[in-house]
Amino acid sequence: MSMASDSRAPLTMRSWLDRLAKTDRLVVARPGVALKHQVAAIGKHLDASKAVFFPQPDGHSIPVVTGFMSRREWIAEAMGVDNSELLQAYRKAVENPLPWDEVAAGSAPCQAVVHREVDMRTLLPIPTHSEHDSGPYITAGLIIARNPDTGIQNVSIIRIQVNSKNRMAVLMLPRHTWAFYQAAVKRGESLPVAVVIGVDPLTLLASQAIVPLNVDELGIAGALHGAPLRVTKCLTSEVRVPADAEIVIEGRILVEDREMEGPFGEFPKYYSSAEMREVIHVDTVTHRQNPIYHTVVPAEMEHLLMGAIPREATLLAHLQRSFPGVRDVHLSVGGTCRYHLYVKLHKQREGEPKNVIMGAFAGHYDVKHVVVVDEDVDVHDPKQVEWAIATRFQADRDLLVVSGAQGSILDPSTTVAFGSEDIPQELQGISAKMGLDATRPVKYSGHVFTKVKIPGEDLDPTPFLQEGAIESTRRFLAG
Ligand code: MN
Repeated sequence: MSMASDSRAPLTMRSWLDRLAKTDRLVVARPGVALKHQVAAIGKHLDASKAVFFPQPDGHSIPVVTGFMSRREWIAEAMGVDNSELLQAYRKAVENPLPWDEVAAGSAPCQAVVHREVDMRTLLPIPTHSEHDSGPYITAGLIIARNPDTGIQNVSIIRIQVNSKNRMAVLMLPRHTWAFYQAAVKRGESLPVAVVIGVDPLTLLASQAIVPLNVDELGIAGALHGAPLRVTKCLTSEVRVPADAEIVIEGRILVEDREMEGPFGEFPKYYSSAEMREVIHVDTVTHRQNPIYHTVVPAEMEHLLMGAIPREATLLAHLQRSFPGVRDVHLSVGGTCRYHLYVKLHKQREGEPKNVIMGAFAGHYDVKHVVVVDEDVDVHDPKQVEWAIATRFQADRDLLVVSGAQGSILDPSTTVAFGSEDIPQELQGISAKMGLDATRPVKYSGHVFTKVKIPGEDLDPTPFLQEGAIESTRRFLAG
């Protein structure tokens, strides 16, 4: 199942990049590409086609890489499964985490070089991505923190704006890192964190698992690898980080300090506004010999898929617990891989799709529009879903609308759009929900709802085609 079983060494970012390089899926830029906009522009241009390696960006000795997990089939390959098994394999890993393996502090590859005096403005090649971004942002940093009460770790990805020599502002959504931070603040203490940059695709994917508080995502990373993840203790805190990571920033989220953060172009392809937010004070940076810096270009496929696959796996498991007829789900790219959920259902009773729609809304607050389709529709093909809406949906009886529910605060059409930064937090992200039952009736007469199929349409036509017959055909056309 996993890469670990068919290769000796565990999957690292380097071994994955090498695999892409030898299969013509990685391109190398000329040295000296600008960190401001150019790296992101080239990455965006080649998104979902090639990973890009940038040597000496702006002359910096540390190279930048982007786009190495920008296709669904690459992620399936890293997991060692077929595309069709991706969600089930991910779900299995989430349900069976593997405790990590600890490497002695100081001997891990990620601690080969130690910087105790840091200047975040020059130490790492941090790109500025979008037009109106406030400046350089770390976009692929795993934030690892420990629950101050239990010591159980949490991993998430949070955007990080570099503000000065040793201060960086962060946006924490009201989830797990936030909960640990609140617990630390209650004690009057800052929260030690590590920002880990340059890990393999499976560890990145594990960081995005939708799991309860106090489930360590590094255990899920181990399960995805098929072997415990090697971790090591930070030099300045108790936080454990992936031992084979490229770069580790050690620091603390301060109790009272706030600094302006934003604007920043986010996954829905809109900017979040500038607000006063929490601050990480950087204490130490460690890295491998000759490290590689990973940046994720916001709103491009690497960013979108990293969130989509764990969400799809969770939503599929959630729906199948109540509705065994649910066969597959997909968070469409046009729906920012968050807001539009397509559900494939083996419908046995009328009305069932509306129950599935209500279940999907309850599965994750980001889910805004749900379309339920039959088994003959491929939920990964937006044209087929649109076809189902065009031919199996009637708005007066098949539409479900819910007002005033909790939605994504990054969706600008929610309440955030109507005001300014003055909207109190508890009123942000209020959103309508819409569900479309685009299934055909369970019973219908004749072939009125049978999708047209031509016997043999799936077969390879090559044996039926003639080579070298164009000239004679042209002579025939000429009469
Ligand atoms: Mn978590």
